[in-house]
Amino acid sequence: MDTLTMDVAVIGSGTAGLNARREVERRGGRPVMIESGPYGTTCARVGCMPSKLLVAAGTAAHDLEHARHFGVHPGTTRIDGRAILRRVQRERDRFVSAVVEETERIPEQQRIRGHARFTGPTTLVVDERVRVQANAIVVATGSQPLVPAPFDRIREHVLTSDDIFDLSDLPESLAVIGTGIIALELGQAMRRLGVRVAFFNPFDEVGPFSDPDVSHVACRELASELDLNVGIKMLTARVEKGGIELTWEDPNGVPHQESFAKVLVAAGRRPNVADLDLEKTGLLLDKAGVPAVDPQTVQCADLPIFFAGDVNSHLPLLHEAADEGRIAAANAMAWPNVERHDRRVPLTIAFTDPQMAIVGSRFADLPQGRYAVGAVSYENQGRARVAARNRGLVRLYGELDTCRLLGAEMFGPGMEHMGHLLAWAVQQRMTAQGALSMPFYHPVLEEGLRTALRHLASELGALGNCRPEDLAEAPGV
Ligand SMILES: Cc1cc2nc3c(=O)[nH]c(=O)nc-3n(C[C@H](O)[C@H](O)[C@H](O)COP(=O)(O)OP(=O)(O)OC[C@H]3O[C@@H](n4cnc5c(N)ncnc54)[C@H](O)[C@@H]3O)c2cc1C
Repeated sequence: MDTLTMDVAVIGSGTAGLNARREVERRGGRPVMIESGPYGTTCARVGCMPSKLLVAAGTAAHDLEHARHFGVHPGTTRIDGRAILRRVQRERDRFVSAVVEETERIPEQQRIRGHARFTGPTTLVVDERVRVQANAIVVATGSQPLVPAPFDRIREHVLTSDDIFDLSDLPESLAVIGTGIIALELGQAMRRLGVRVAFFNPFDEVGPFSDPDVSHVACRELASELDLNVGIKMLTARVEKGGIELTWEDPNGVPHQESFAKVLVAAGRRPNVADLDLEKTGLLLDKAGVPAVDPQTVQCADLPIFFAGDVNSHLPLLHEAADEGRIAAANAMAWPNVERHDRRVPLTIAFTDPQMAIVGSRFADLPQGRYAVGAVSYENQGRARVAARNRGLVRLYGELDTCRLLGAEMFGPGMEHMGHLLAWAVQQRMTAQGALSMPFYHPVLEEGLRTALRHLASELGALGNCRPEDLAEAPGV
């Protein structure tokens, strides 16, 4: 078996792995990156990009329908499922090939194709072919869809986000298992493209919210468009000619049965650790076989092992994977002098309609008794009404002692943009009154945010610290 001695070995060539490898090189180290699957990253191949392509198609179809609110009546809409999926695949392949080209430009001696597993804390074996000895190891192996019972028994007959984008046509009907972000984005898009869609979840949550008020409005609004079956007990999933028959009990114990052409299981993801032989590292592993990871160092215990990206389950998002890849590499190079890195303010967005965003501290994580809440409903917000997109609720959180913005849970139109605005304000440690002194154009969705900030300033007892012009309501707003 060949033996390779490098400064840092990176397992995985996804977003975290690519960033880790580049950072090691930038710091003058010798990296090697090991990949067992195809190049191209989860984001480009089966994640962020193809999902947003499908959402864009659903939005295009919905906009035609929505035009009726304005007295605009387009002709009969024809949805060409094959053309929709061809575009999703064509554009996805463009994104993937850009990443593959970038990955293949990495010098060959820094790349190994094959499955890596630990043989000790700083040694790996790749496909029983190459032994890798490194000063430190970055684990950036990502995650994969979780397929719970009873769907695990018919795994090859159900779809996950790994294969739904490869369909050649839209199914006539789709059962979506899960009501989290991925389930809602894909299921709502399918519904808007004319597919009969039903969602199923044994739990009551819809979306990522922890704030019960925002969650309530999101459930109510989404239920007005989508067939949401929450709190159910899935009993059986039986493969039949032309689809899958599901039987379940509703929350009242009443049995139901329905057949669907396809089933999409979007019930969460689990870290890719099963075949890493992590027990050979001496790390303490939890029930799922995952070690504890410090989010500021991404280090595991005091070993030269760093977990970056989805595999550490900290915040399984693209920009976090990129950051964690860089942090892992910096600390792998510096080991044993590992440094704590400041993390960006958390920001999560769901590309549903209305959109969802969570910024900074979630409601569930607010410091007990030391916060106040400012809220705005988008039902009567001026610009939202103009566009007939007047649905949603935003709740902002501020710290009582300092009046600093802590975070927000947001459901409404344009939240991908307002989520950014607020995340920047939270990271800049702005106060409610400081944010109110910023310019607000008219008429824009951001004026809703200003209403919530004024409410928050009042709840924080900070109105006296606000300039009068920031509290004045302009006529007509
Ligand atoms: C449908 C969907 C939609 C999403 N939408 C968004 C979004 O809108 N915005 C957002 O921020 N995030 C989104 N995400 C999440 C985002 O895609 C991930 O957070 C990100 O891609 C994770 O990158 P990673 O580097 O951790 O893992 P990956 O890109 O999955 O890379 C891990 C790599 O490790 C390899 N590997 C695994 N085990 C081994 C081994 N033992 N040896 C060698 N190689 C191995 C794998 O083959 C893989 O190539 C979405 C995800 C999905 C599934």
